[in-house]
Amino acid sequence: MSITRFSFPTVIHFGAGARTLAGPHLREHGLKRALIVTDKGLAALPLIASLQAELTAAGLNTALYAGIWGNPTGSQVMNGAAAYKAHGADCVVGVGGGAALDVAKVVGLLATHPGDVMEYVWDHPQVRPITTALPHFIALPTTSGTGSEVGRSSVISEEATHIKRVIFSPLILAKAVFADPELTLALPAAVTAATGMDALTHNVESYLSPAFHPLCDGIALEGTRIAARALATAVREPGNLQARADMMMSSMMGAIAFQKDLGAVHSCAHALGTVCDTHHGLANALMIDTVLAWNFEAVPHKFDELAHAAGVAGGGSAFVPWLKSLKAQIGIAPNLAAVGVRTDHVPRLVEVATADICHQTNPRPCTAADFERLFLKALTP
Ligand SMILES: [Zn+2]
Repeated sequence: MSITRFSFPTVIHFGAGARTLAGPHLREHGLKRALIVTDKGLAALPLIASLQAELTAAGLNTALYAGIWGNPTGSQVMNGAAAYKAHGADCVVGVGGGAALDVAKVVGLLATHPGDVMEYVWDHPQVRPITTALPHFIALPTTSGTGSEVGRSSVISEEATHIKRVIFSPLILAKAVFADPELTLALPAAVTAATGMDALTHNVESYLSPAFHPLCDGIALEGTRIAARALATAVREPGNLQARADMMMSSMMGAIAFQKDLGAVHSCAHALGTVCDTHHGLANALMIDTVLAWNFEAVPHKFDELAHAAGVAGGGSAFVPWLKSLKAQIGIAPNLAAVGVRTDHVPRLVEVATADICHQTNPRPCTAADFERLFLKALTP
């Protein structure tokens, strides 16, 4: 029997109003000067002003860095590190979706370590070591999809090439997460649908991956169950706090589960993001039924489990039809063509998807010819 190392993430304060615990938490840890890191769009909303007021009321001196938009880049991180030093900060409060949290995760690293952020990317030929303890970092997610708040990696795009690079270290994990579903109540339906499908895809793909990880399998099935019961409600009734809470939980469970691995749906989504600039969650939503229909014959018993978890009658063969009807119900476009993907994009999509690492743990080996068939099928089904 081989020996496997399992590791699970951080302290999570979960529930409506959890955000109000952030200030007292920082004070308990003796922290005095917080840099709030968020994106441009959120910075203009009352949410950030009220959070800043709460931190001030808890006795913290705060500054705001809101220089994040689109896919996070190296200069956004370096500017954040400069803001940290200018404020004389001793902790980082990341607020936002995956992009803001990915930048916030490494602002403290670059504020206390030499060099450029790209020199900390895991596959850099002379990767710099993380030598000292990093500033205290806490995360407050405002979307339910990526689960970046419980992840130990940060995805930063290269300025010139737009190629996504990954900084991976348990040391950049948040010291505490304040997962407050009230922060997601204002999300528009299309964002709720796309990010929710990302969360569902994480749970489903990690469960289907063949790696040995029963802990993650259990979380993935329960995460699937929760998303299956909550996603359509969260889209239809944006103010439904229980559905919002369910989706926030399913999102974190998906991100914890995909420590195990992902699969070919994510390779397709990464290609759509790179080639056609498609939103990550939407890209997964567009591809999941096509790829899973193709995966079915490799692991039919696992589809039985997924169908059972999702409350779908009729066994494993009913799972993909259920996904299709869920997509229609929450307003996901019917095919790739409807979001502007064209046949002449396919060769480049195939190239990027084939080079992506995620499909190496797909339940069925996926070649370039397979990716071509899958993209063409999803183009106009
Ligand atoms: Zn994803």
